[in-house]
Amino acid sequence: MTLHIFWLTVLTKITLYFFSSFFPTSAQVNWDSPETLQSKDSVVSTATGRAVAVTANPLASDAALKILERGGTAMDAVVAAQAVLTVVEPQSSGLGGGSFLLYWDEQKKFLYALDGRETAPSRAGKDDWLNEDGTPLSWIKATKSLSAIGVPGTTALLWEGHGRFGRLPWNENFEESIRIAEQGFLPSPRFLSSIFLAKRIGINHSDAFKSLYLPNGDLPNKNIPFQNKALARTLTRIADLGVEEFYRGNIAKDLLIDLNKYQLDGANVRTMTLNDLANYQIYERNPICRPYRKWRVCTFPPPSGGGIALLQTLGIFEILMPRNNEKKNVFSWHYLAESLRLADADRSHWIGDPIDWPVPVDGLLEDSYIKERAAFIKPNKAHLSPLPGTPRGSELLDLASQPRTSGGGTTHLVIVDIYGNIASYTGSVETVFGSRYISGGMILNNQLTDFSFVPSIGGKSISNRVGPKKRPMSSMSPVIVFSGNRPVIAIGSPGGWVIPHFLSNAIIKLLDLGLPPKEAVETSHLSVRPTETILEKNAFWFKDQLDIVKKLELLGHRVKTRSFSSGLALIQLRDGLWHGAADPRREGKAVGLQ
Ligand code: GLU
Repeated sequence: MTLHIFWLTVLTKITLYFFSSFFPTSAQVNWDSPETLQSKDSVVSTATGRAVAVTANPLASDAALKILERGGTAMDAVVAAQAVLTVVEPQSSGLGGGSFLLYWDEQKKFLYALDGRETAPSRAGKDDWLNEDGTPLSWIKATKSLSAIGVPGTTALLWEGHGRFGRLPWNENFEESIRIAEQGFLPSPRFLSSIFLAKRIGINHSDAFKSLYLPNGDLPNKNIPFQNKALARTLTRIADLGVEEFYRGNIAKDLLIDLNKYQLDGANVRTMTLNDLANYQIYERNPICRPYRKWRVCTFPPPSGGGIALLQTLGIFEILMPRNNEKKNVFSWHYLAESLRLADADRSHWIGDPIDWPVPVDGLLEDSYIKERAAFIKPNKAHLSPLPGTPRGSELLDLASQPRTSGGGTTHLVIVDIYGNIASYTGSVETVFGSRYISGGMILNNQLTDFSFVPSIGGKSISNRVGPKKRPMSSMSPVIVFSGNRPVIAIGSPGGWVIPHFLSNAIIKLLDLGLPPKEAVETSHLSVRPTETILEKNAFWFKDQLDIVKKLELLGHRVKTRSFSSGLALIQLRDGLWHGAADPRREGKAVGLQ
């Protein structure tokens, strides 16, 4: 029976994959990362300064810059930028979603990790993603299910972060977002193509979505300011009354009324309760760090699996490629692909919310284990479908690997302020426009689809199974890189499962090849699946890749090309000045304060 479920999941994934590769649309649907891609001719936005902000939308970057100019900290600017993104990039993140923050406090010389991930309601059960016959729900159906909505964490994270690291009054950081929601903004191409994409994935379950984003059944006019008055009211309430209003006040009550209303068919959906909202908690986690050559790379621990995958990848790659300074050396491509595949095998097996299973974080990252993993990789032969390892701390765990989940609907931003504080922040609502349900003008996430749909395989539990008050495994991996005790790079990206692939590529380009931020964000990505090595289609290095493809195939790689909708946001300290760059695959903008 469980084997049957496994093959059904595999079959569904394969069908979706073939569907996406054979029927590409103008909106570039990619079911692993269903967000839209900018034209390949987009230019990279760059900026330099004492303080720099890079976000996925020009209005959010400008709002962050205003805050930095007024003497606000990086945290104040994160609040302002995320509030504006809720309005102008609702397809990717917002106050109805969740987020991770990595924050360097320059005065305390301390790196903080705040976890504002969505949490499953207390009534969630391990069969939430199964049909009555025990088969997993289809992904499309799950994405618009009320059961997919996790208790949102973003507002609590912004509040907590602001309480610790903010300098400007809380409400001041909301001014721009309220003004833009009230007066409107001109819809960007990506905003419009995301609405189009949401329509293809399904919007008929949400009248609120249709009336806001498809007035009269059409996309909003790109020449008329798009307003969201309900969201302006919600933002004003949060600005004036703080976090209480969101989790225990009128916003919470309205959210519950809306969820009940959406439960039209009377089905027994176990959505959140007022208690779940009232009890939402931000967790302060210990960042995870590993040396990479002469630097130290720090990122987010579980429930992120992306952070561990990134550190393992870099660790294994460094052993195999002690020197790496030629961009066309086939071994760097071969070894990177192999390192990624091994790291992916571990994260789909060992990572979940540590409240359910003890995640062997130390074992997965220790030198002896990284060496053991590197020893599996051969210079002359690709190792396809590698198995997870057995790190120290896993001895008592008898788990099954989970089928890979889909991702999307995510944003990353990086900000350094004039005081030297740095924020690397990833926010998400999951699938493009999340569940597409709306309350108070806010998109409600569907982050709980990041849980494994099946709780076990072959009698063995899956670490990332659904459970009450659990946080689903994420790939989001905000990063800060140090040289000695000094932060020199902050970076991150959306992209679902492939986030650590994008990040390891970019970090290697910056640190090994010495590429400037602009090239690190624009040059092509290398990614993997268990049996494939994927090079980016239409990429800026594509010509260079053709001879590499042949060489990789000789080593046994099955090479495929695909497009990616990464959204790297990067700042790097070079010659005493911060340099920022935004990924040209989205609409990001870098801004600087001289
Ligand atoms: N839900 C995904 C995660 O947390 C979002 C990441 C993304 O799509 O970029 O991993």
